[in-house]
Amino acid sequence: MGILYPPLCAACGNVLMRHERVLCLPCILDLPRTGFHEDPENPVAQMFWGRVQVEHATAFINFYQDSRYRQILHELKYRGQYRVGIEMGRMFGHELKDTAFSRADLVHPVPLHRRKQRRRGYNQSALIAKGLTEVLDIPVEDGLIRRVVNTDTQTRKSRYERWENVDGIFAVKDPEKLKDKHVLLVDDVVTTGSTLESCASALLCLKNVRVSVAVLAYVRLD
Ligand SMILES: [Zn+2]
Repeated sequence: MGILYPPLCAACGNVLMRHERVLCLPCILDLPRTGFHEDPENPVAQMFWGRVQVEHATAFINFYQDSRYRQILHELKYRGQYRVGIEMGRMFGHELKDTAFSRADLVHPVPLHRRKQRRRGYNQSALIAKGLTEVLDIPVEDGLIRRVVNTDTQTRKSRYERWENVDGIFAVKDPEKLKDKHVLLVDDVVTTGSTLESCASALLCLKNVRVSVAVLAYVRLD
């Protein structure tokens, strides 16, 4: 039997009111939204320019070094807070309603390497994708793309080295289900875009596939 703790805001840690879920109202109102979905030349879209053909790209919130919202990703990644991922995905979904992103044929989370997923027990991007698709009413697929190389060690490398490092880390498992589709790739964090570039490249080898990208948090390198 578990002990009942009062639910806390995933950003500021205050006790949530009964009608609040995951974030308290002040934290929802202050959420550092990027508005990128309204700007085709936004910084996330620019990451792919000249590298890989991405139709539309956006991120939901800006991620600053000292922001209380960093806690959201920590909860999501290391504390197994499933509802945080799903609820953030829902909020993101409301933002993307009636935009080009909502016209994708299917949503697919960027997969973790199976060893990493086994260790963590879940893929946080799949939780975001689940919440997002609930609101957008798009089918979600998980498992059509596989991460064949574990890139755990790349966090310390420079941007240039990272671009070099990621080619061929993803493989498509079920091309028949993906061909002729507009696929919306969902990830939790984007820094350089190299992982998403690699994942999109794997998809774009298939016949008549288009790729868009939706990420929960955009990390500024500066
Ligand atoms: Zn709060």
